[in-house]
Amino acid sequence: MSEYTRTLLPVRWPDAQGAAYDVVIIGGGGHGLSTAYHLAARHGITRVAVLEADYIASGNTGRNTTIIRANYGIPEAVRFYQHSLELYQGLESETGADILHQTKGIVWMAHTEMAMRTERARCLINSACGARTAMISPTELKELIPQIDLTGGGRYPVLGASHHVEGATARHDRVAWAYASGASQRGVDILQHTPVTGLIHDGERVVGVETPGGPIAAGVVLAAVGGRISAVAAMAGVRLPVRTHPLHAFVTNDYGPGFGSILASTELMCYVSQTERGQMLIGAEFDSQPSYSRQSSFSALRGYAYKITRFLPFLREMRILRTWAGLCDISADYSPIMGFTPVDGFLVTTGWGTWGFKAIPAGGEAMAELIATGRPPALIAPFALDRFRRDHVLADQGSAGTR
Ligand SMILES: Cc1cc2nc3c(=O)[nH]c(=O)nc-3n(C[C@H](O)[C@H](O)[C@H](O)COP(=O)(O)OP(=O)(O)OC[C@H]3O[C@@H](n4cnc5c(N)ncnc54)[C@H](O)[C@@H]3O)c2cc1C
Repeated sequence: MSEYTRTLLPVRWPDAQGAAYDVVIIGGGGHGLSTAYHLAARHGITRVAVLEADYIASGNTGRNTTIIRANYGIPEAVRFYQHSLELYQGLESETGADILHQTKGIVWMAHTEMAMRTERARCLINSACGARTAMISPTELKELIPQIDLTGGGRYPVLGASHHVEGATARHDRVAWAYASGASQRGVDILQHTPVTGLIHDGERVVGVETPGGPIAAGVVLAAVGGRISAVAAMAGVRLPVRTHPLHAFVTNDYGPGFGSILASTELMCYVSQTERGQMLIGAEFDSQPSYSRQSSFSALRGYAYKITRFLPFLREMRILRTWAGLCDISADYSPIMGFTPVDGFLVTTGWGTWGFKAIPAGGEAMAELIATGRPPALIAPFALDRFRRDHVLADQGSAGTR
C-alpha cells in the first residue's frame, strides 16, 4: 500500500438525528470536528452532534494549502499557534490516524529593508514566545532551495529571509477524518447533509437548531461554519466584524526533483510547497472583493503564477492541473474570534480566514475546554469577541501571509 493510501479510521454515521444534545456544533469542518473530539476525549462530554450541511471537510478544511506554522507577529498569536503546531506533531500518535504530517520549514523572503526589519522583529518575538524562527542570508537560502532565483526575476531581489524551522504540512481531509473518527468512536453523532436553517430561542437564550429533519434541542450551540458565519450568526441576531472573501489555490503536475521547504514572499503575497503526491501547490492573496463565490478565476491564476515564477523559474515549464477556491472568514483585525457572544447559549469559533487550518488542534481543544468549564482557557482568552468593544484588537495583518 502506498504512503498516500494508508487506511483512515472509521466514522459511525447515525441513521437519524437525536432530539436533544448537550452540545450542537454547526459545521463539520476541522474546527467543529476538533471541538467535538476534544469534548469527548478530554472532558467525557459525548451527547454532542456535529451538523454538516454538505459532507465533512467540504468547506475550507478540504480546500486549503495545509501550511502549519507559528511565525506570527504578536505574542498571543505566536503562543496559540505554537501550541497548535505541537499538537499537530503528536496528532498521529494521539488519534492513531495517518495525517501525512511533514516538518519542512518555512522561509519568508524579504525584498526591501523595511521587510528585513519586519522579519527580524518576527524572529525576536517568535523566539521570545517559543517558536523557532531565525534570519538566514541569501546564500543560506540558496543552499536550502537551490532552484531559487535570488534576483526575483530581476525585480524582487531577496535580501534575506526568516526561517521558521518547525513549519509543516499535513493532509487536510485526513486531519478532519482523524477528529471525526475519534469523536464518533466516543459517541458523538456526526450528521452529514444536515444544514442548520435556523436557531431556536427561549427568551434571550439559544436552546436549539432547526434542520430539514426537524428541531434539535441543545444545551449550547457552537457555530463553526467557516465563510458562512455572517449568515449563521444573523440567525442569533449577532453581527460580527467578519467579511467573507474567496481565496484561490492551484496545483501543477508532478515535480520529480523534489522541493523540501515551503517558500513564501509576504511582500508579493505568494507561497509554494510540494504535496505528498509531488505536485507544486501555489497560493497567494485573497480576492479584495468580498463574495460567496467559489468559482476559480483566470485573473487569480494568472496573478499567482506571475508572482511565484519570479522566484522559481522552473515552474514556468509545469502544467496547471487544478485550481479551486474557498470562502474565508476574515476578521477586522486578522485574528480569530473564539468564545461567547452576547447571546446566551450561542458561541462562535470564526475569523479563521486564510490561516485557520494550522489552528484546528488548538482551536478545538480550547473551545472544548471553554464549553466544558464555562471559562475561556488563558490561551484563547485574548481572542474573545468583546475585544472589539474593549478596544483591545489583536492586529496582525502582516502575519496572515495572504492579505
Ligand atoms: C485556498 C485556501 C488555502 C488555505 N491555506 C491555508 C493554509 O495553508 N494554512 C492554514 O492554516 N489555513 C489555510 N486556509 C484557511 C483554512 O482552510 C480555514 O481557516 C479552516 O479550514 C477553517 O476551518 P473551519 O472548520 O472553521 O471551516 P470550514 O472547513 O469551512 O468548515 C465549515 C463547515 O460548515 C458547514 N456549514 C456552513 N453553514 C452551515 C449550516 N448552516 N449548517 C450546517 N453546516 C454548515 C460548511 O459546509 C463547512 O463544511 C486556506 C483556505 C483556503 C480557502
